[in-house]
Amino acid sequence: MRTEQMRKLKRFSRFEHLLLLPLALLTTQCGIFLAGPDPRASLPPCVDDDCDCGDLISQPQAQAVLDSFRNDPYSLDRDGNGRACEALPLAPPSLAALTYVSTSPHLALGNPSHAGKTYANDFLIEREQYALAYSRDRSSLIWASWRVNRSWLGQTDRQDDFRPDGNLPKAFAPVLPTAYRGSGYDRGHMVPSGDRTRSPADNSATFLMSNIFPQAADNNRGPWRELEEYAREQVQAGKSLYVIGGVYGDQGKVGEVTVPGRIWKVIVVLDSPTADVSSITNQTEVIAVDMPNRDRVDASWQTYQTSVDRIEIATGYDLLSSLPVEIQAVLEAK
Ligand code: MN
Ligand code: MN
Repeated sequence: MRTEQMRKLKRFSRFEHLLLLPLALLTTQCGIFLAGPDPRASLPPCVDDDCDCGDLISQPQAQAVLDSFRNDPYSLDRDGNGRACEALPLAPPSLAALTYVSTSPHLALGNPSHAGKTYANDFLIEREQYALAYSRDRSSLIWASWRVNRSWLGQTDRQDDFRPDGNLPKAFAPVLPTAYRGSGYDRGHMVPSGDRTRSPADNSATFLMSNIFPQAADNNRGPWRELEEYAREQVQAGKSLYVIGGVYGDQGKVGEVTVPGRIWKVIVVLDSPTADVSSITNQTEVIAVDMPNRDRVDASWQTYQTSVDRIEIATGYDLLSSLPVEIQAVLEAK
């Protein structure tokens, strides 16, 4: 994966950027649409709004952004020495060589970070209701993956029983439901309460603190919620979904919990309630978003649409990894 990522980062050399960026600016200003590779496609999605060192996972990645925007609009090179975000790690976290084999229906599209039962910062939790990977050092999930079709939706009210996750190893400091109190951040769900309303037990599973992250209130109640509701409308209309969502980046801490800089989600939309991964083709609809975790956000989730490829660049994960590589290549570039 690391080599795949490096290849993606290298796909646009510095030379090509120098040629393409002025061209892209020129064509935008003249209102002319020129088909061709998007010079930003090899960079993380934060370049579309406002990158911060806390949105990037490694120094080389920050450097790739700086090298593409030599006037440093994001202030990635505060000391002006030509090197971006020098405090970041020199390499993205490498994925484990072995992928834990799972029969969970929620992991049918793969295990993005190769999470397993023995990795403290990539700790896999599988429940009947969802699968997620948890980081001890961040004291939160890093991603979750879950299936949604009509059978998951019912009449159950929000249980609101936020509580520590007893499935985490004893050595992990438990995150209490009061952990974000006074921080200004919402207790944001990754697997939405509204996606698990078949029974009180299902809904209650979304209130475990392992499924919760510190989320900017206007994001949680704005575009993030809009996307959750849009996705559920598709399910009510007879479609079904595979959803993978996660967090990355670092903009400080609330107690022991890392506040992510960015929040992403990939939704694969299938045409019937019972369709499974075997029905996925090059034509399958894929929605990918990557949003800044801050209050200053656009109300519409569409503003934050990006490609799966760019989320892979930003996170270092391999998404949709269970699909044939040709289908992955098409769906991830959309
Ligand atoms: Mn929410
Ligand atoms: Mn992939």
